[in-house]
Amino acid sequence: MVIRTAKFVASYPSVQKCPKTDLPEYAFIGRSNVGKSSLINMLTCTKALAKVSQTPGKTQLINYYLINDEWHLVDLPGYGYAKVSKSEREKFSDIVLNYILKRENLHLLFVLVDSRLEPQEIDIQFINWLGMNQVPFALIFTKTDKVSSTVLEQNIELHKKELLKTWEELPPFFTTSCVTRTGREDVLNYIDSVFQE
Ligand code: GDP
Repeated sequence: MVIRTAKFVASYPSVQKCPKTDLPEYAFIGRSNVGKSSLINMLTCTKALAKVSQTPGKTQLINYYLINDEWHLVDLPGYGYAKVSKSEREKFSDIVLNYILKRENLHLLFVLVDSRLEPQEIDIQFINWLGMNQVPFALIFTKTDKVSSTVLEQNIELHKKELLKTWEELPPFFTTSCVTRTGREDVLNYIDSVFQE
């Protein structure tokens, strides 16, 4: 897929406030600091469409971007930031879980995990919850330039093993780096293939 145009639309505090439109949506989520904003900027070829955060965990809004006047890229709040209060975390859960369960336009959710890390409980819990709720999703292993290919393979295998404890089928997965721009075409082509279905 060629990105011809990418425009910020607006930020919304809840799924009820999200725009009434028929355009398909592809959403991105992950732990704070996983590299979500950087990935969105890489995918859309913009320097600062999504703000690369200095204060992780602060954004509790659903950010919409219009791509090629054809689909929405949706940037969901990050999860798992230890320094936010319990009420902030609960607000996050409401916003995100409602969006994921109620938004009919949502075609696919990309869950970002840090390729440097072994499976993290919070990610696995979230992925299992998606599976239980039959939400279509794919995994993206981010920041692969920061890890050797051996460790990358090991961490991917550990994630697969962890997911196969619960599920018979594995989700599609991608590896990306915003430094080397690895994985950009793969992710966009996958969006294209889901779009055509
Ligand atoms: P977010 O909180 O998930 O939106 O994460 P950011 O996009 O703000 O990234 C968090 C930090 O990781 C920033 O310092 C980024 O520059 C850095 N980062 C993000 N992606 C990559 C990557 O692919 N490679 C490297 N080396 N650093 C990255």
